[in-house]
Amino acid sequence: AEMFGQLTTGLESAWNKLRGTDQLTKDNIAEPMRDIRRALLEADVSLPVVRSFIESVTEKAVGTDVIRGVKPEQQLVKVVNDELVQLMGREVSDLVFAKTAPTVILLAGLQGVGKTTVCAKLAYYLKKMGKSCMLIAADVYRPAAIDQLTILGKQVGVPVYSEGTEAKPSQIAKNGIKEAKSKKTDVIIVDTAGRLQVDKAMMSELKEVKRAVNPTEVLLVVDAMTGQEAASLVSTFNVEIGITGAILTKLDGDSRGGAALSIKEVSGKPIKFVGRGERMEDLEPFYPDRMAQRILG
Ligand code: GDP
Repeated sequence: AEMFGQLTTGLESAWNKLRGTDQLTKDNIAEPMRDIRRALLEADVSLPVVRSFIESVTEKAVGTDVIRGVKPEQQLVKVVNDELVQLMGREVSDLVFAKTAPTVILLAGLQGVGKTTVCAKLAYYLKKMGKSCMLIAADVYRPAAIDQLTILGKQVGVPVYSEGTEAKPSQIAKNGIKEAKSKKTDVIIVDTAGRLQVDKAMMSELKEVKRAVNPTEVLLVVDAMTGQEAASLVSTFNVEIGITGAILTKLDGDSRGGAALSIKEVSGKPIKFVGRGERMEDLEPFYPDRMAQRILG
């Protein structure tokens, strides 16, 4: 299926209602705006985001001068496009590297969102950029998670530091960083424990690991299938531990778009990468303008 196909179709019905008109007015835009609102809500965009989006598009669409040769529906598409790009943060948010190596990236996320996969994908991505990487397995609650990371590390040719499940995550992370420094590693990616739900123990452990490793990036991995819930998670983690951005996974699946469109506005934090598949090469930087174009079809 086409990504966000349902959203695209919903928006199309808005443009279609303007066919045959010669100007955008407060009157003839009302019904198309209701279609847009409905399409966004069905895509699971969070309500306050939908409200301010609709307000801002309405204002700009009606206030826009008629451009010769541009039909009203095309004009509305343009306004919506600009607002979508704005909503998603406008510019691509590049990964920040430490002034002096190594750069430490802390990855957090709930269980099943694709965090372990992202660790390896990100290492693979950085390796292709010419950076040497090391992965640190600080998820001590699931022995399987350490095994999985070790296997994926082998697959992408990146060493994985682990101490089993007995040691403390913050201590494992510290030891791993020492090891990485001795090998002059450029980037260290620390995998932390996920839980099924947000809980106090997870947050305090994350805070402790964060304090221990002083990361340049703290990225929360969220699943696009969870829609606006993903956006509120980004917000919660940011308030609790302070993060620098999000990685949105499973965009290849049957997701409706709510997460991609809500995260920046709800949390104030940008999406830095998106995952669109299970293969190691299926991770790419998040480009708001390309995403808007995809949505508009
Ligand atoms: P974790 O519990 O957060 O560490 O999640 P995993 O990395 O183990 O991933 C959970 C499942 O989601 C695995 O079967 C992955 O292959 C799958 N997965 C991860 N990222 C993506 C993605 O971008 N697209 C799809 N379709 N599947 C993904």
